Amino acid sequence: MSTRHNFIIAIDGFSSCGKSTLAKALAKKLNFVFIDSGAMYRAVTLYFIREQIDMNSEEAISKALDLIHIDFIPNIEKTEIHLNDEDISDEIRQMYISDKVSEVSALKAVRKAMVAQQQKLGKRRNIIMDGRDIGTTVFPDADLKIFMTADPMVRAERRYLELTAKGEHVTMKDVMENLAHRDHIDSTREESPLRQAEDAIVLDNSDLNQDEQLEFVIGEYMKIKESRKVVKS
Ligand code: C5P
Repeated sequence: MSTRHNFIIAIDGFSSCGKSTLAKALAKKLNFVFIDSGAMYRAVTLYFIREQIDMNSEEAISKALDLIHIDFIPNIEKTEIHLNDEDISDEIRQMYISDKVSEVSALKAVRKAMVAQQQKLGKRRNIIMDGRDIGTTVFPDADLKIFMTADPMVRAERRYLELTAKGEHVTMKDVMENLAHRDHIDSTREESPLRQAEDAIVLDNSDLNQDEQLEFVIGEYMKIKESRKVVKS
């Protein structure tokens, strides 16, 4: 068992499995802080696109990373993500960012910088972080690790509905291709690829609704809390 005093829940898995939806609901229920690590990689990608950073130049990447400051600002309705004091929460959800984010995330220097920030955020508070490498690289000693997966068709449909509801003009084909592309790069990259941690609990939510998946994870959380009570007494 870890010697930390805070409780860390790591949620990893493929693109568009509903990791953030689950993480947000859990954070609300348990009063934990939710950190969307994917949003950090999306913020870096936005900066790289805007500033036309040459991804083949280690120097340009390193200089850019020094100029990037990412903050999570909680407000009443949602937590905003800020890039150098600008609210970019909506911008980073657009398809042009999704199309480039996996290439940017595969860069060694980018991963090193983001993982260091994520580990800092998890130092004291009880947190839930979702991403691709949280249970394997960022917090290998997380108290509870969930690995999410779902049928690719179900995932694409969910993402398609989400994007078109926001007014984005995308086709199911665009979305399916983007998910397959990201999953491929995320799983095959050299630096902390997406994979299931050995001690992660697999959650396939193809046939589960949001309440059912929340109930499942709360159940796992309660089991850990109970087992620790037994160890202490
Ligand atoms: O979670 P989300 O789909 O917003 O993540 C966007 C992209 O960021 C992923 O496809 C992946 O390339 C990258 N990512 C990552 N490691 C994380 C979280 C996200 O490489 N921990």
